[in-house]
Amino acid sequence: MVADIFQKCANPRVDEYRAADAVGLVPYFLEMGSESGPTVMHDGKTMVMLGSNNYLGLTGDERVKRAAIAAVERYGTGCTGSRLMNGTLPLHRELEEALLDWLGGDDCLVFTTGYAVNLGLLATLVGPDDQVFLDSSCHASLADGARMASGTTAFFRHNSVESLLKRMRNWRANNEGGALVAVDTVYSMEGDLAPLHEIGEVCAEHGARLLVDEAHALGVMGPKGAGLAAETAVQADLVMGTFSKSLASCGGFVIGPRNVLDHLRIACHPFLFTAAGVPAAVAAALCAQQIAVEEDWRREAVLARGAQLRAGLLELGYEVGGDPVSPIIPVHIGADWDALRMWRSLLDNGVYTNCAVAPAVAANKALLRTSVMATHTERHIDEALRAFEVAKSLSA
Ligand code: PMP
Repeated sequence: MVADIFQKCANPRVDEYRAADAVGLVPYFLEMGSESGPTVMHDGKTMVMLGSNNYLGLTGDERVKRAAIAAVERYGTGCTGSRLMNGTLPLHRELEEALLDWLGGDDCLVFTTGYAVNLGLLATLVGPDDQVFLDSSCHASLADGARMASGTTAFFRHNSVESLLKRMRNWRANNEGGALVAVDTVYSMEGDLAPLHEIGEVCAEHGARLLVDEAHALGVMGPKGAGLAAETAVQADLVMGTFSKSLASCGGFVIGPRNVLDHLRIACHPFLFTAAGVPAAVAAALCAQQIAVEEDWRREAVLARGAQLRAGLLELGYEVGGDPVSPIIPVHIGADWDALRMWRSLLDNGVYTNCAVAPAVAANKALLRTSVMATHTERHIDEALRAFEVAKSLSA
């Protein structure tokens, strides 16, 4: 008998998902009834929003909204084609120039999503004799890009320079191909930072190129929000970022040497075979980027609100992770069902968080991912902490 391709869809994880859904414990696909600002409407209630990546609080900024509306008025709602064919607008080039002014570098290419940037970079650059070295906690887009590439992949232990070095030496002992090390600079779930300086040294010693994913650092870290590589004075060969976090939009970019980007322009499938970022998205990112550079108070506010939330959670007895300078504060819970119940209690008490359970995190390492934004007030954080206090008493 031949197998049915759909057979794999009937698996225990789907059953578990349905069971959780039946008792209101599925923390996914919830509908947001408003902008995901410091507060958000969900199910007819206003909630304190601790579950977004809107770190600078710019998604509802009047200037950003007006820029998006003006772009729609001028260019319409869609580009209806790839950057290569008919989808490149002056706005795409303007955004590329603005990103180069901000972050430095030779050349910049704007993609339709950040996911496509990582997919495309690895799939295009890691050829048959090459190897990519990935942190075991790297974003899925890097891991998927490695799978699409014709070269090989080595995962090193999370943030362990020693583990990277060992794998690099072993591989280099018998290989003369090209090597690429790719890391997130700020990890999206744990909010911890990559040891960029040491990783850069390993790359330099072994003739490897370095790609840094600045998705969660841009706008909030480094001089004028230029990211962690800029903060730590590490010269990465390729810098990528997204517009879907601090830049209040959707899309992504890579900055790198001109010859490499020219190769991507004609060979990178996730760049070539998808429609260009829509006018509203590109114009919003461009406007948000300008505000990110100019308004230092937003970075200061993110730090202050992060410190307030972190201190409050610790005082309540929660185990929190992440780096104090990151806007992401993971609350470690442990068992999946405990995390789900705690997530539900917070939701019922007016606080929106993200719940990460296995397989997104290791078994019994479930966490609630919280993050702050520049437009949260002290009162928003106090309100959230009161709900955490209630949730704590439930679990006691
Ligand atoms: N890299 C990292 C570290 C991310 O967290 C994300 C999105 N969550 C991406 C890349 C993909 O970005 P985008 O949402 O723009 O596709």
